[in-house]
This record gives sequence, structure tokens and C-alpha cells, in this order.
Amino acid sequence: MPLHVRGRGLPDGEPVEWWIVDGRLSAEPVTGAETVFGADGDGGWILPGLVDAHCHVGLGQHGPIEMDEAVAQAETERGAGALLLRDAGSPTDTRSFDDRADLPRLIRAGRHLARPKRYQRGFAIELEDQWQLPDVVAAQARWGDGWVKLVGDWIDRDIGDLAPLWPDDVLKAAIEAAHANGARVTAHVFSEDALPGLIKAGIDCIEHGTGLTDDTVDLMVEHGTALVPTLINIENFPDIASAASKYPRYERHMRALHQSCAARIGAAREAGVPIYAGTDAGSAVAHGRIGDEVDALKGIGMTPTEALGAACWDARQWLGRPGLAHGASADLVCYADDPRSGAAVLGAPTLVILRGAVY
Ligand SMILES: [Zn+2]
Repeated sequence: MPLHVRGRGLPDGEPVEWWIVDGRLSAEPVTGAETVFGADGDGGWILPGLVDAHCHVGLGQHGPIEMDEAVAQAETERGAGALLLRDAGSPTDTRSFDDRADLPRLIRAGRHLARPKRYQRGFAIELEDQWQLPDVVAAQARWGDGWVKLVGDWIDRDIGDLAPLWPDDVLKAAIEAAHANGARVTAHVFSEDALPGLIKAGIDCIEHGTGLTDDTVDLMVEHGTALVPTLINIENFPDIASAASKYPRYERHMRALHQSCAARIGAAREAGVPIYAGTDAGSAVAHGRIGDEVDALKGIGMTPTEALGAACWDARQWLGRPGLAHGASADLVCYADDPRSGAAVLGAPTLVILRGAVY
């Protein structure tokens, strides 16, 4: 049966009304539609499905997971209203999820790409020779859904601190290879040192970015690089530091990055770096917490509307996926209360509609 929803949209707060037929949105009235939201005319809010721009479906604390657990991760995201997920690297093949109408849409960045022993064990493809990177990036670009994920820095146990994984010329060739295969590139970066080489090589996005400085913020603005800080995962830095007492320099560095994070990410926002909401769910963070990340973005100076846009309409535009538009897939979330009021509201939609089905 065709459905009908009525409420207010954002960011403008104007009244909106949609009909849903055969899984798609219609701006034109459809006869015989059942009003499933807004029937009493009291208002309420209707948004495109939320976006988690950095999470991992198919990744657990120790790497790959069983398929039923990966399904449960995706279902948890759906329950929280996150219907479009940029998967920032997963060692489990979730390609079969594309055939399941009940699961959120995935934009995969393939596998994490790292050097041996330079990322969490079991997560990444580890390249023996750094110059394999351009070819491996090209292969991941062809396999993925428009993104490739590099590990930009990680602890180097020989020096006992965070350090870049790749020299600048390798990065330049690798990012060119991704772009030539139609994919954008992003990288995990905690520290200061890996950022200039990545940004100057033309990377499209930085994940975490806790090591940003005035100079690298300027570089990001100049190159149009986006940032997904995953603020609720950075809350884990003190625990990561405590577990690494064998490496005192690294331990101090992680604590310092945690301390300066809000100021540095706030400075990036102020300078005009586009920032999107990502939870990093999948290993250290539980799924279904997009509302918490939006609240955390308010903590670095975003207005409530801007922070929600970073997990909704702005993120969709950045990822090249439609919001609410005539003919688009009916992927939307409805709220009785203002979704900008906090995670308790945002993460618990009154109604989730995915491909026209109500959850
Ligand atoms: Zn991640």
C-alpha cells in the first residue's frame, strides 16, 4: 500500500509532505496512501536517512566477524536511523548485503591498506613493499564503492611513537591510481607528521585528524580536503595510552592529542574545512551511536543544525547520494520531537523507512 508522511524538514524547518510508492518518494499525491506519520497534523520532523560517514560493518575487536554478527551491526545502525554508511574498511566480505532491502546502504572503502605490523592485527592488507601501494589501491578502488582507505600513521615500535607509513612519492602515485579508477581516498591519521604528505598528494578526506596544526588546516582548506574526526572514538585515546606503557613517548603523544583534539578540530571547522559525522563503530565503538557523534560535534563549535547536517543532508551531498527528492529511494527518518535536541531523540527515530518499508 502507498504511504504518506507529513511534517517539517531541515535545515529550513519548512513543511514537507511525501508519498511513498514502490519504495520511492513521490512529491505528487498518490491516491489511497496511508498516512503513517503526521496524521494528526501536529508537526514532527522528516529527514533523509542519517549518515554514518565512518563506521565498519563486518569488523569486530579482533578483525573479521561472522556474517550474522555483521548483519546485527547493520540492523543496529538502521535502528538508530543511520541508513547510509560509509564503511571505512572491513576485513569481512559484506557484498551480499547489497541484495538485502532491509539493511542500510553501504559505501565501502575496501580493506585497510597498511605495512606489516603497522596497524591492528587482522584488520588490514599488509604490503611487504611500499611500492605495491599504487597497484593495490587501484584494485581496491575497482572493488569498493568509490573510496579507498589507507592507514596514514600508526605506532612504529622501533621509534616508540606514531609515525607515517608511506613516503610522499608513494602516496602521490597511490592517490593518482585511485582517482584514475574513479575512487576517492581517505586515511586514518592520528598524529601531526603524516598529514602534509597526504594532503599535498591530493587525498580527499582525513579520518580522525587529531594531529592537525594551523599549517595543515590551511593545507586542507587549500586542497578542499574533508575531515571525519570520529570524536566519540577519540575519547578512547587515554585508554589506548594507558595500555601502551612500554612506549612512553607514544603514551604521552596519545594523551596530548586527546587533550588538544577539541581545539584543533574546532579550528579546522572555523577555517572552513568540511566536517562530517562518523562514529568509527566496529572495533572500539559500538554501532548505533550516530546521535552521540552529532552531540560531540556541537562540542567543537557546530550549531545543532550544522551538526545534524554533518550526519544527514550535507553528508549525503558529499557522498553523492540523494536526500529527499522526487523519485529517490524512500530512505527517511521521522521524529515526533526536534532531532537537533540531542542524542536521546536523534538516535531513536519515531519511524525509520528504508526502501519504502517501515521499521
Ligand atoms: Zn575506523
